[in-house]
Amino acid sequence: MKTIGVIGGMSWESSTEYYRLLNRHAKARLGGHHNARSLMLTVDFASIEADQRAGAWDRLGDQMADAAQRLERGGADIVILATNTMHRVYESVESAIEVPFLHIADPTGAALRAAGIERVGLLGTRYTMEQPFYAGRLRERFGLDTLIPDDDGRRDVHRIIYDELCHGVIDAQSRKVYQQAIDEMASRGAQAVILGCTEITLLIKQEDTSLPVFDTTALHAQAAVDWAIQNR
Ligand code: GLU
Repeated sequence: MKTIGVIGGMSWESSTEYYRLLNRHAKARLGGHHNARSLMLTVDFASIEADQRAGAWDRLGDQMADAAQRLERGGADIVILATNTMHRVYESVESAIEVPFLHIADPTGAALRAAGIERVGLLGTRYTMEQPFYAGRLRERFGLDTLIPDDDGRRDVHRIIYDELCHGVIDAQSRKVYQQAIDEMASRGAQAVILGCTEITLLIKQEDTSLPVFDTTALHAQAAVDWAIQNR
C-alpha cells in the first residue's frame, strides 16, 4: 500500500478523526490487521488561525507548501490537506510537490454527482462558504449549484467551528443552530448538505438532519485510502 501524507492540526480535533477514518477504511477494505500507511505533519493552529483572520493567504500558502514538501521527503506517495478552508491555497501545495495532491472537494463532488444531487447546501467556515475557491470548484468540475446560509447563519456556523468544535466542545444548542441552517437551506431547494469543515462531523451525524449528509472528512479520508490501495 502507498503512504498517505496528511497535513494536519487544523484543527487537531479533526486530525484525530482523519487518523481513525484512514485506518478504519483500510481495515474495511483489506481486512485482518491492515491499517493505512500514513504520515501526519501537525502544524500549530494558533498561527494559522491568526493568519486566516489577517487574510495572509500567501504566507499560509508557503507554510502549507513547506509542510507538503516535508511529507514528500518523509516518504509520502500522496498528500492530503486535512481542512477545507486551507484549500484556499491548494495551488501552492500542489505545485510544491511531485507526488499527487488529492483536493478535498473532489471526492465530495463525485459522491454528490453519483447520488444525482444538483443543488447542495454548504456549511463551513466563512472563508469556505463565502470565497469562490470551494463552490467554484464544485460548479466547474461537478456542475453543482451551492447554497449557503444567510449572513446571521454564516456568522453562527463560523463561530461554532472556531470557538467550540476546534476546542473539542460539542454542544446540543449548537447542533440545533446547524439543524436550523440545514432546514433553511432545504426550504430553498438544497437536496443535500456538505459538511464542508472537517470538524462538523463531530457535531452533526446523518441522523441529526433531514437532508442527506456529505461529510468531507470521511469522503476525503476514504478517497485517499482507495488511492493508496489502488496504486500499490
Ligand atoms: N477544519 C476546518 C475546515 O475544514 C476549519 C479550520 C481551519 O481553518 O483550517 O475548514
